[in-house]
Amino acid sequence: MSQPTPYTDSRDIVHFIGGARREASSGRSQAVYNPALGSVARQVQLGSVADVEAAVASARAAFPAWADQPPLRRARVMFRFLELLNEHRDTLAAMITAEHGKVFTDAQGEVTRGIDIVEFACGIPQLLKGDYTEQVSTGIDNWTLRQPLGVVAGITPFNFPFMVPMWMAPLALATGNCFILKPSERDPSPSLFIAELLQQAGLPDGVFSVVQGDKTVVDALLTHPDVRALSFVGSTPIAQYIYETGARHGKRVQALGGAKNHMVVMPDADIEQAVDALIGAAYGSAGERCMAISVAVLVGEVADRIVPRLAERAKALKIRNGMELDAEMGPIVTREARERIEGYIALGVEEGATLVVDGRGHRVPGHEKGFFTGGTLFDHVTPAMRIYKEEIFGPVLACVRVKDFAEAVELVNAHEFGNGVACFTSDGHAAREFARRIQVGMVGINVPIPVPMAWQGFGGWKKSLFGDMHAYGEEGVRFYTKQKSVMQRWPASIAKGAEFAMPTSR
Ligand code: NAD
Repeated sequence: MSQPTPYTDSRDIVHFIGGARREASSGRSQAVYNPALGSVARQVQLGSVADVEAAVASARAAFPAWADQPPLRRARVMFRFLELLNEHRDTLAAMITAEHGKVFTDAQGEVTRGIDIVEFACGIPQLLKGDYTEQVSTGIDNWTLRQPLGVVAGITPFNFPFMVPMWMAPLALATGNCFILKPSERDPSPSLFIAELLQQAGLPDGVFSVVQGDKTVVDALLTHPDVRALSFVGSTPIAQYIYETGARHGKRVQALGGAKNHMVVMPDADIEQAVDALIGAAYGSAGERCMAISVAVLVGEVADRIVPRLAERAKALKIRNGMELDAEMGPIVTREARERIEGYIALGVEEGATLVVDGRGHRVPGHEKGFFTGGTLFDHVTPAMRIYKEEIFGPVLACVRVKDFAEAVELVNAHEFGNGVACFTSDGHAAREFARRIQVGMVGINVPIPVPMAWQGFGGWKKSLFGDMHAYGEEGVRFYTKQKSVMQRWPASIAKGAEFAMPTSR
């Protein structure tokens, strides 16, 4: 692969409302950093309640005509959007690396996984087909169809600034809704790029808007009477707040929260494969993935074989600016996030865990101001420790030793989060039992990060998801539509006289 072009646009990041870039009316803004350099790259303007009002008004005005478009025409816009995304995939990846810090090849992977959902949304005519029953009673037919909700909004986290908006917007739009995106204020550039590509793809003005901002914008969306549904992805306390507040204001809400994902390694697992999987899943994207593995559950004697290999590999990680093509791990998104992570490492030591590899204070030559930390490895972590219970969201892997399979399952099931989990084994029966018994939404058997494909749907259990429906896949289509049932008969089939008994098919 040739050296990618860095993303260097230094203009302010503004809103996109009514088909045009628009300055925020609040006069407030916030710095967006390049975390590998540790310097301010650009500013994001933070929206006000009035900006949300403007976006909702423009979306509401655009809704009737967009909802009225035949699904095939909406699909054609998605097809053109797909072509444009494919054309610009490296620009998007460079944008992600510049603001998030993840390595360029990982950012390319993020773009591809987001594009997958657009491909799925291109099939919307098939996905919107209703059910039809002829002759439910004499001369009467009954069918169901799904119609869009209206104006819907998405609030997204920093760790997937392209992919997570794509979990939401393509299906919301293809089903006929108008969508307002409130991206993370830490890496907001992809949001504007998405808006402009959708416009080039032929999406009418007002159908997709972006409002930059923080809690002020989120709260305005949460309480706005014309916003019918909210999709949220982020940390658990905010997810719970969004779910409760949105529901209180009569909205449909799906709110995906934080995680603490375990990978169980059975004594019969292929050790080299398990080590590779743990290293990639714990330290990839500096552990800032909701599906990162942060706990290795080592069963029986496997711990003594695996911990020294993990230590060797964690120490050898190539940590550098994500634009360098051989980088395996980039910086942490912000200085504050690095402090939080390194604070957890100090806490783990206080709590009595064995610090096998200490990533604190890692410096990258030529990038002394960058927000880097190294890969950290703890052994002998216990379920009572806060470093086990809480989401650290950084490159810190905690090894917990258990005696057998039953204890491993019990441990995972007792955790308050239930996003992803993996089991490495060569025993088919153990694998089957694991998949059946585990109380987690997404399960990998010898797959460390089992992120479901576009048509399957994504969602955790317990405190990793508030709401009833998963993101994307057919659940995504259901989330952004409401079902209507129609029953018809025609005059020739109507018997004379009023009916007072409950009509039945007899
Ligand atoms: P975050 O909760 O801080 O922010 C998410 C969004 O909420 C942002 O747009 C932010 O502006 C907004 N927000 C923040 N504080 C708010 C408040 N007090 N009131 C209203 N809105 C607020 O999350 P983050 O740090 O951007 O992302 C990392 C978190 O997201 C991790 O916990 C990670 O596990 C989680 N995550 C979960 C999934 C999943 O699928 N379950 C996927 C990706 C990330």
